[in-house]
Amino acid sequence: MPDPASYFARSYAEARATLREAATAAGLSVDARTHPLRGPEGEELSTDAVWIGPRDARRLLVSISGTHGGEGYCGSGVQCGMLETGRYRDLPADTAVLVVHAINPHGFAWTRRVTEDNVDLNRNFVDFAAPLPDNAGYAELHETICPPRWDQETIEQTFSALMAYAERHSMAALQQAVSGGQYGFDDGLFFGGRQPTWSHRILEDLLRRYGASAKAVAVVDYHTGLGPFGHGERICPHPAGSAARARAEDWYGGDITATDDGTSTSAPLVGTNDVGIARALPQAEVTQIALEYGTQPLFEVINALRGDNWLHAHGDPQGPDAPAIKAEMRRCFYPGTPEWCRMIWDRAVETEDLALAGLKHA
Ligand SMILES: [Zn+2]
Repeated sequence: MPDPASYFARSYAEARATLREAATAAGLSVDARTHPLRGPEGEELSTDAVWIGPRDARRLLVSISGTHGGEGYCGSGVQCGMLETGRYRDLPADTAVLVVHAINPHGFAWTRRVTEDNVDLNRNFVDFAAPLPDNAGYAELHETICPPRWDQETIEQTFSALMAYAERHSMAALQQAVSGGQYGFDDGLFFGGRQPTWSHRILEDLLRRYGASAKAVAVVDYHTGLGPFGHGERICPHPAGSAARARAEDWYGGDITATDDGTSTSAPLVGTNDVGIARALPQAEVTQIALEYGTQPLFEVINALRGDNWLHAHGDPQGPDAPAIKAEMRRCFYPGTPEWCRMIWDRAVETEDLALAGLKHA
């Protein structure tokens, strides 16, 4: 078997090409949804979907990469490896797999967490007809989180201000304010948007198109940036007490966390993609996890995001400040060492095997 590190790409274009080659080699067709914009090298951007198994399967595993753009290196590597090693070749009866590669291709290509409109796709699935969620903590901290300058002095000053907020409230309150999601500042961090963004619409469309026959659906949505280096945390978005949460507990042998009971490294979130997935598959029982892999310490990750936000809001994304900021984004969302890649792969195989086993009994 090849070294799992070989499944992981160095650019969006390479990831996309690898995925398409692996699908073609396996005799599978690729449904490409072309994005209206281009990447930094002028490359075409698209979300590529691959269906494996009977078209009318009742059981469905959905694998999603790149919900948070540049985190897509991780999920893409897993998806390419699954196809290259033929792991989906002998699926259980009445079971299919839908691979959704780079659901946020613009963020992937630019090594950004957000979409082309600075939207955090995993905060974008709210009801835009209703009043949008309020995040008073973020409003208080916005100018501190996203200063108009980004130099060492500003970084140190704003860090002290953020720490003072944590002392007044708590560390958890700071993380919640910064990362829980906000709808008031379209140039800020963790902005949920003002309408469904391109990736939101494509995800729901793909699920409606391919998932209509499915009655039991397992979703594994690949993420990076939280938790210990290389550790894969299975964060379940379904609320405590729901049947979906109980299924996830059962399928994964209790090895899941949740944001509503304080067991997860993630703050409680609003507008996450499970809402849209459930809406697109009203006939199915959906059991979802975000598989969240650790990279660097939380404050380094947040600072990388703040620098990247500054670069795109105030700087030149292809100017002289860009290489250092983008390198830091890479380090914080895709360390990409062979050791890290092997940890990602092993946990992904274990997780998808458990998901397929769970579907068998669904
Ligand atoms: Zn993520």
